[in-house]
Amino acid sequence: MSDIKALDKEYVANTYARFPLELTHGKGSLIYDENEKEYIDLGSGIAVTAFGIADDLWQKAVARQAGTLQHTSNLYYTAPCVELAKMLCEKTGMKKVFFSNSGAEANECAIKTARKYAAGKKGSEYYNIITLKNSFHGRTVTTLAATGQDVFHKDFLPLTEGFLYADVNDSENIKKMVAENKVAAIMIECVQGEGGVAALDAEFVKTIAEICEKEDIILICDEVQCGNGRCGALYCYMNYGITPDIVSTAKGLAGGLPLGATLFGEKTKAVLGASDHGSTFGGNPVCCAGALSILSRIDEELLASVKAKSEYIFNELQNASGVKSVSGMGLMIGIETEKNASDVVKECMENGVLVLKAKTKVRLLPALNIPDELLKKAVEVLKKACEV
Ligand SMILES: *Cc1c(COP(=O)(O)O)cnc(C)c1O
Repeated sequence: MSDIKALDKEYVANTYARFPLELTHGKGSLIYDENEKEYIDLGSGIAVTAFGIADDLWQKAVARQAGTLQHTSNLYYTAPCVELAKMLCEKTGMKKVFFSNSGAEANECAIKTARKYAAGKKGSEYYNIITLKNSFHGRTVTTLAATGQDVFHKDFLPLTEGFLYADVNDSENIKKMVAENKVAAIMIECVQGEGGVAALDAEFVKTIAEICEKEDIILICDEVQCGNGRCGALYCYMNYGITPDIVSTAKGLAGGLPLGATLFGEKTKAVLGASDHGSTFGGNPVCCAGALSILSRIDEELLASVKAKSEYIFNELQNASGVKSVSGMGLMIGIETEKNASDVVKECMENGVLVLKAKTKVRLLPALNIPDELLKKAVEVLKKACEV
């Protein structure tokens, strides 16, 4: 019918191994392809469409703002940006927010802030940032450097200097690295997403927070994927009882529009000054209006239902045939299957369910409000696809 796939091949840069599917429209957790075939969406455009496709309230908020004032640049004040910053601070206890357009940019801002803080406090030789092996922090040259996976680095060297990779869940290793290097910050994903949907151990995260506090090292939580209600708390670090100095987020924040946010705590709120950082689109009124609609609805009731849906998925899959293990937290779930994960993804797609992959696992990132009956139907299809 459409020649979109052929035209994509001809005109769009070859950076994506796309599934053989053109998606045209949807509603909530249902999404349709060019032949009107229906799919239950367990991927949410990689944790982005937090309340599903074309959610009514979100759509109204975005359309209203698009019809009123879509952009001004940051040379002027606009209400949605300010209201969103206020809501983020009130819901987290953080003090200030910088807005950008993506997860990578939110992390770039976090990194710049940590380096400026450390340079001011201890000296400019304190520029090192410790991240974890298997982490993922973005695709820019600096956030690639922050990403602790060689596969992403190899063709793009030299990357930004000053990143060190610690072993996951090894407190002694990270203590040693802090003792032997001049460290500005430690940056973690409480649940590693692209690295294989693995929640960090509570003890390990606590130890990192203690080291940061004691040594005056900036603790950065990359909540680009695991944040915004995804893991059963507004931000996943809240599940660990820690207080980061900087929180970066994006993906689900604006429910399907590009928006990154870097949240600063007490220590870091005054580090960046005029002209230290900026973004033409950052804090765009339409994106912020979308985010206000999403963020205002991530409340205790929604988070309780995220946890209930999560428990349902874990219970159904944990002892299912062909499932070796289930990992993750909330509605960020990785499934190690006996079959090749790509085959499971393909079979699910054939049977009307969209799931993702992370490394060798099948990955689920459904909308936070996926209706229980759709979730049940999708899990049945998934279990069948895992069966050996
Ligand atoms: C997706 C992701 C990023 C990068 O976000 P972009 O919006 O693609 O730049 C950074 N960190 C984590 C943890 C992510 O999952």
